[in-house]
Amino acid sequence: MMKLQQKTSLLAIFLFGTLAVLITAISLVSFRQFSLSTASEQVRTVAEVVRVSLTEAMINGVIDKRGPFLKRLAEVEGLLVARVMRSPEVVRQFGQGLDGEQTVDAVEKRVMETGVPFFGIVNDEINPIFRGTIPFIANQTGEPNCLQCHSTPNGAVLGAITIHISMDQLQAKALITIAIMTGIIVVFAILLTIFFRRQMSPVMATAIEVQGVVAKAKDGNFVGRIQYTGDDEMGDISRDLNQLMEHLHDSLGTITHDVSKLLRYEAEGNTNLITTTTEMVETLLEISQFKQAVEEDRTKSEVYFRIAHVLREQFGIRTGTLYEVSSPGMNHMKPVVVDGELDSTCKWCNAEILFQADSCRANRTGHIIDSIETEMICSQFKHILDNPGLGHICIPVFHSGTVGNVVQIVVERTHGPMYQRLLPFIAAYLRESAPTVEAKRLLDTLRESALRDALTGLHNRRFLEEYVGTLEATTKRKKSRLSVLLMDIDHFKEVNDVFGHDVGDTVLRVVAKALGAQVRTSDMVIRYGGEEFLVILQEGEEYSGERMAEKLRMAVAALKIPVSSGIMRKTISIGVAGFPSDGEDIWEVIKYADLALYDAKHSGRNRVVIYTPKLSNKE
Ligand code: GH3
Ligand code: MG
Ligand code: MG
Repeated sequence: MMKLQQKTSLLAIFLFGTLAVLITAISLVSFRQFSLSTASEQVRTVAEVVRVSLTEAMINGVIDKRGPFLKRLAEVEGLLVARVMRSPEVVRQFGQGLDGEQTVDAVEKRVMETGVPFFGIVNDEINPIFRGTIPFIANQTGEPNCLQCHSTPNGAVLGAITIHISMDQLQAKALITIAIMTGIIVVFAILLTIFFRRQMSPVMATAIEVQGVVAKAKDGNFVGRIQYTGDDEMGDISRDLNQLMEHLHDSLGTITHDVSKLLRYEAEGNTNLITTTTEMVETLLEISQFKQAVEEDRTKSEVYFRIAHVLREQFGIRTGTLYEVSSPGMNHMKPVVVDGELDSTCKWCNAEILFQADSCRANRTGHIIDSIETEMICSQFKHILDNPGLGHICIPVFHSGTVGNVVQIVVERTHGPMYQRLLPFIAAYLRESAPTVEAKRLLDTLRESALRDALTGLHNRRFLEEYVGTLEATTKRKKSRLSVLLMDIDHFKEVNDVFGHDVGDTVLRVVAKALGAQVRTSDMVIRYGGEEFLVILQEGEEYSGERMAEKLRMAVAALKIPVSSGIMRKTISIGVAGFPSDGEDIWEVIKYADLALYDAKHSGRNRVVIYTPKLSNKE
């Protein structure tokens, strides 16, 4: 690329060169014209002088003495030749005349024949010579006139004169003038160039500085400043640009600093302020959108799934585990998302960590555990030997000061540095979602405890109230059945009265446990009231309520409950009804079971009564 200064210099040289050539050419041409016309004027003048002199000599009768005059004439400076010749008419009338007065060359012959003067340059070896051959033409005007002596018609050519004038001096003058003019142009051009260069040099220097500063700014570096601060326009540009850089440096620096504080991300020394800041602001925006989505998620699983989605879509992480760490003291953890899917199999770690959560190094230390940085850092990572190309980075996520989740990223070891660079951003996402996850976990726990009875650990009546709709609907949809067993401990008041309330509580706990031990996991045991329990059995083809009730009754009757004075035995009475055989609504069926229970109590206790419509009529 040609520099501006070179371009201007070249342009100046071209312009001044062209100007010099043009002026020289024009001068040469006009000098030539001028010289020619001057010379031809001189020739005409000399010719006229000769004509007048010769005429005078004729009148005075001294025409014979013309020889010396013509000789002297030829001695005039600059006049090289002045030769007169006679036309054939004059020769006929007056004879041959002096030597050399006969026509000599073709030009003179033609001038004599045509009467047209000839002017032209003839060169001897070196010097240019102007030649003019002018005819003397007879006319009858004036007194005396030619025809008084010459017996020729008017307009006839009487003779001619050939005059040679040296052009040396004229040419020398022209050359000197041209040389002077060219000299003036060159001096002027040099002065002008020097002037322009002086004017241009701060412009050029500043332009080069501006170029440097702007080039740096393009790379996000705003520390460059322009030195030139003259009080011209360039100075203004410099100051403005310096201010702009200062402003950009300050404001982008502040933004970057603030944003990196938000992201807890340390930008390295020579980073591009613009791209780093843009990246970080974009990340912040994405994180805030992510946070809002998380806050609007309904369940904890949705949040976990969203985190997995972000890891996959934003960071390209497809393998790894999101663990949920149980509340402090429990020392449990469980996988909730595995390789992007909601799952609870321990794929990437030894299952040991599930029940010994402190063997998970990230959970125990609360530090990021990076096996790419430090090989073999955690012995619980399963795939070190199977797949030595894989590494893990485990990030603990804090919930109110303790580790609530561990996010394990499993990546190719060769991609490690890239993920290490992304870690602050990943951590920012996790940090933003943590409060929501914690709140949802807390809410789940609260909900769970609200639906459970603290004394026995069984579900309570509120749970039944919440669950009954789903239960009814699924049972009807599956066209299956339920057996409803309502039971009440016989003479329980006595226990309280005789042994005290604490023993009463123990009895409740023991009975509850015995009931729970008898049923399948798909069945439900609910503490329905003080010492009343409700058991709901998921039935297949037929009702097994009576058989199960009998089993429960006998199991309770067989309990040996230790009290201070020895062993206590308690019995229960059970009323049984079926859904939907006895009623279309579970509450209604429970009411029928209660009727049956009432009947069991009144017919002696420690027994099972199956509901029949008769019992309703009895009531
Ligand atoms: P019945 O055979 O007719 O059922 O006689 P009962 O004595 O069991 O009579 P009832 O079912 O009316 O007695 C309920 C008693 O259970 C009353 C209350 O003091 C006691 N109770 C209810 N809830 C609790 C509890 O949480 N702990 C203790 N210790 N006692 C409870
Ligand atoms: Mg009761
Ligand atoms: Mg009772």
